[in-house]
Amino acid sequence: MYDPASEIQDYLVFGEFGGVNPSITDSSTFTFMNPDKMSDLFDHDIEGCFLYSRHWNPINKYLSGALAKLEGSESAQVTSSGISAICSAILQVCSQGDEIISSRTIYGGTYALFKNVLPKYGIKVHFCDIGNFKEIEGRIGDSTKIIYCESISNPLLEVADIQKLSQIANQNNLKLFVDNTFSPMFLSPIKLGADVVLHSMTKFINGASDCVAGCICGTDDFIHELTNINSGICMLFGPVLDSFRSASILKNMHTLHIRIKQHSHNAQYIAEKLDKLGLRVLYPGLTSHPQHELLKSIMNKGFGFGGMVAIDLVNKEKAETFMEKMQKEKVGYLAVSLGYYKTLFSQPGHSTSSEIPLDEQKKMGLSEGIVRFSMGLDNDIEQTFNRIKKCL
Ligand SMILES: *Cc1c(COP(=O)(O)O)cnc(C)c1O
Repeated sequence: MYDPASEIQDYLVFGEFGGVNPSITDSSTFTFMNPDKMSDLFDHDIEGCFLYSRHWNPINKYLSGALAKLEGSESAQVTSSGISAICSAILQVCSQGDEIISSRTIYGGTYALFKNVLPKYGIKVHFCDIGNFKEIEGRIGDSTKIIYCESISNPLLEVADIQKLSQIANQNNLKLFVDNTFSPMFLSPIKLGADVVLHSMTKFINGASDCVAGCICGTDDFIHELTNINSGICMLFGPVLDSFRSASILKNMHTLHIRIKQHSHNAQYIAEKLDKLGLRVLYPGLTSHPQHELLKSIMNKGFGFGGMVAIDLVNKEKAETFMEKMQKEKVGYLAVSLGYYKTLFSQPGHSTSSEIPLDEQKKMGLSEGIVRFSMGLDNDIEQTFNRIKKCL
């Protein structure tokens, strides 16, 4: 079984003066000792050379290296946000007239990009139930380029059968793109056959809710295409990650395995307790979850089932009252986003999924009473449960 934590641990980089942390790149441009070398570089786009920071710089290269280790990909590129990673990777593959088959249950921002923006550039997106392989296969046409999904979906926590989707993609010469934001460490989509993995590093990977960042993991060729000085979307749309942020994310990544274990431990505890109270709980670590066995069969062992839990309080009013009480009881913060060391909770239908029209929300099974938790790193999770119980 793939062990991303050990992979990252084995990835040693040295600071300029032998520091245990690599130096922060404090330069937007780099010196050439002779003009020949400079023209050579621009003519041939030589990999591994630094010419300008929007292209590559050392610290972004180091962080990209660690992300490739995390996902088991040949290479990676860091970007200024998760949504820019998604957008750049898609625009690198799709041109006017091309089509994408996407899961219906995706992050609201991605949904809005697919539904409202890509069509303006002649790229059409078909939304499907990602567990319905017949429907997906039926949608594939001559112009289809990508199958797109989230490994664990936002906010309903459905698990995608990445191996099966990769089979369909391969048979039809498509690329499988997987947003792995909800499941770093415990799911490795590339190892299961995905072609490209995307992350919002804003969430678990950085884990401090102090910045916005993203990444694209894929083959050497694909990352090289993205950064090509003449045709690369990362190079020419310019979603470059700031070096100072790259440096702080790289340091935070080294505790990711410990954090994921604790997030998972706490989420499992809360999910089981709320389930026993008779609530409708969505958590892939519960045996009642429809893809519990699937996830068990594809996950990397030892990191649990992740830090995200959702409960269904049936209506909007109950959900709102509950969240207000929880903030007063110091369970955590009423805030969007995830992967923070404190518990964050929100009502996706009216926040992160509000871009999805109500009838679509109903189709995907998103009720107005759903409250999504990103469980924090609480040391005394029993106390947290007692506080949550008081608010119900
Ligand atoms: C937050 C999020 C994104 C967007 O990432 P940003 O860093 O906010 O741009 C994409 N996908 C998922 C699953 C997310 O949770």
